[in-house]
Amino acid sequence: MMDTERKDKTFVWHPFTQMQDWAARPQKVIAAAKGIKLIDTEGKEFYDGVSSLWVNIHGHQHSKIDQAIIEQLGKVAHTTMLGLSNIPAVELAEQLVEVTPCGLNKVFYSDDGSTAVEVALKMAFQYWQHKGKMKKQKFISLQQAYHGDTVGTVSVGGIDLFHRVFKPLLFSTVQIPSPSCYHCQIHSESAICGLQCAAALEAVLAEHHEEIAAMVIEPMVQAAAGMLMSPPGYLAKIREITRKYDVLLIADEVATGFGRTGKMFACEHEGVEPDMMTLSKGITGGYMPLAATLTTDEIYQAFLGGYSEKKTFYHGHSYTGNPLACAAALANLAIFKEERVIEGLAPKIEAAAAKLKEMEALTHVGSVRQCGLIIGIELMQDKYCKIPYPWEAASGASVCCKAREYGLIIRPIGDVIICMPPLASTVEEIETMLEIIKRSIREIT
Ligand code: PLP
Repeated sequence: MMDTERKDKTFVWHPFTQMQDWAARPQKVIAAAKGIKLIDTEGKEFYDGVSSLWVNIHGHQHSKIDQAIIEQLGKVAHTTMLGLSNIPAVELAEQLVEVTPCGLNKVFYSDDGSTAVEVALKMAFQYWQHKGKMKKQKFISLQQAYHGDTVGTVSVGGIDLFHRVFKPLLFSTVQIPSPSCYHCQIHSESAICGLQCAAALEAVLAEHHEEIAAMVIEPMVQAAAGMLMSPPGYLAKIREITRKYDVLLIADEVATGFGRTGKMFACEHEGVEPDMMTLSKGITGGYMPLAATLTTDEIYQAFLGGYSEKKTFYHGHSYTGNPLACAAALANLAIFKEERVIEGLAPKIEAAAAKLKEMEALTHVGSVRQCGLIIGIELMQDKYCKIPYPWEAASGASVCCKAREYGLIIRPIGDVIICMPPLASTVEEIETMLEIIKRSIREIT
């Protein structure tokens, strides 16, 4: 065992990890990265098949992002946003307003996806208090939702495995069925169902809208649920219904933002303009922790007043608006523009689709889901009767271990194999990664 691996096992507690299992197996420690490859302490290279947990966009050690951080280091590494501002944070706010859907004109910074959503929930709650609608205190979210790991975001979450233990700590929310066609409990054929999953929202709001502050949703893709994709028209319908009943819509684009779905933001697929949008992960191209909650003038103005009116939004973190992270985010956006990243995605998405078509035929592949370069491949013990593997079989984890032997780092969600390559991956690299996944599934299942 290498010394760093031994020290890791002695001192580090990893997130979302059963440490007993971690300690019992050989583990990789990453020493460097270049382009879309990670390099371990033994010098072995691996494709970064999940973009270092869905954050990396343009590859590692991109000279423009590296340079932007170095230049900013020569000026100031950190200063507070409480009572002060800084140049990269201001410049970035202007650009975020420019690239996000119309109407989102104000930017509130925080540090990760969870805090961006936490901010949105608190802002929505307080907004209605200022508007005199004191009863609007509840949130609607989707079953299987994942919006982060703080107590507020766990409250609007719906993944039983992660959230069950914390139930006594949480505030109560209303959950409506997930719009995943493959797992649909309401109707099995999306083409003729008339979006009954969205009708569930209308049913709740028709009766309870006076108590509902906002609905929070992962637009187009419920990522941590296992890349569950919503059917065409669903998101637009949700916007229509929330608007009709005067309920705010919070689009959580932490996972889907910055080109992952083939457009800059998932909301663009259905022309949706939310009241709030949360961003993180890809915001810095995957280089530094940073997050933003964007909102409308209407919401912002409800917080204006003298101190005695008690309308201030009392929320903030020490590293909010960190200049190094904002400089990285500015470089990230510049690369999107200069290298026409979104325009270049179509052939990559098509290549992935073609490879995934081949995978559908595999005996134990139940469902293949793709939205842009977000891919989920769901394994089933019996795909025709939709019988999953028993939990103990850990088929998803075994496939990912096998893929590692072939030089690809991926991470499953249960029995869903996730592939979310950096947008900088070439057509050939995407094909290679998916070929490794196909081969690994074949050998393991
Ligand atoms: N929201 C969504 C949609 C996510 O997918 C995630 C993380 O996967 C989060 C929020 C939480 O982000 P973070 O892990 O940066 O706190």
